[in-house]
Amino acid sequence: MLVVLLLAAAIWGLAAAFGIRREIHWLAIGLLYVAVLALLVVLPEGATLRGWLGWSVGAWLVLGGAGLAVWSYVRLLGRLRMRARSAGVPGAEMPAPRTGGSSPRGVAALSEADVERYSRHLILREIGGQGQRRLRNAHVLVVGAGGIGSPALLYLAGAGVGRITLVDDDRVDLSNLQRQVIHRTEDIGMSKVASATRALHALNPGVAVTPVERRLDDTLAAELIPGVDLVLDGSDGFATRALVNRAAVAAGVPLLSASVGQWEGQISLFDPARGAPCLACLFPVEPAAGLAPTCAEGGVAGPLPGVLGTMMALETLKELTGAGIGLRGRLLLYDGLYGETRMIAVHRRQDCPVCGGL
Ligand SMILES: [Zn+2]
Repeated sequence: MLVVLLLAAAIWGLAAAFGIRREIHWLAIGLLYVAVLALLVVLPEGATLRGWLGWSVGAWLVLGGAGLAVWSYVRLLGRLRMRARSAGVPGAEMPAPRTGGSSPRGVAALSEADVERYSRHLILREIGGQGQRRLRNAHVLVVGAGGIGSPALLYLAGAGVGRITLVDDDRVDLSNLQRQVIHRTEDIGMSKVASATRALHALNPGVAVTPVERRLDDTLAAELIPGVDLVLDGSDGFATRALVNRAAVAAGVPLLSASVGQWEGQISLFDPARGAPCLACLFPVEPAAGLAPTCAEGGVAGPLPGVLGTMMALETLKELTGAGIGLRGRLLLYDGLYGETRMIAVHRRQDCPVCGGL
């Protein structure tokens, strides 16, 4: 008996030391258990090994049955807890976010399939069922299905953000594929919004994607932005970012804006309606030609927009669910070449040409 327990402890310890998955731990212990039972059946009475195994087949079966009952109970408890969170029972409460979740649609519980799909969110104290329903009820506008937009869109769809409107007038080019991972080689020549929409549907058919294959201008921005909870801008080029900023400020909608160049990227949440600066508070005028080259002009390390786009998706989840501390009033700078991150406090400017009059 003691020999078997020591063997089980050794298997567990070794598996833990090598970082092997918990399921494999249990599988190894299960195999050991089956081996013990098999030996007890096969070995003749009085064999030395039988003495080491200690108990009779019946006793081991009782132990196995008890173990199975405990495992089932723990699993059932976990599922019940997850279901309780998905139904938004007390204990899963969190501070109300600025956006989403308060509409009547938000009251409806998640389906069985959604409980399974979003189970890793549901067990997070900061998201839970309430947060997941806020994500489902949210509507975000994503400007650009390029390097930053690609991971941001994929993670938003994966996370269950209910409605995504996507604007881009570009077509997939071979030179995009080094970093714009939402598109495939066979999508070359296709419109980026169509290619991205296909990928998002394939990942999560429960997300409603509205592709807008148009160049964003003041008219279109003024049409699209007032209806959404949050704008994500991953476009390449100062003029578009400034345009999105003006429209977001005018509509009072928060704007997550990220940009990358060569090895460095930056991201912040611009929201003058809630005390944070807008993009123009930081960059009131367009940088001189050559000072802020686009990716096509200056190059960009492929995974860099992936880092910033993924940060953007994470900040979106926080903003929509009210989890954690967002990037309002903070500019996060990431230097990929040296693996360094810096956070800078940023403030509204009273003389800002865009939000100064608010
Ligand atoms: Zn401003």
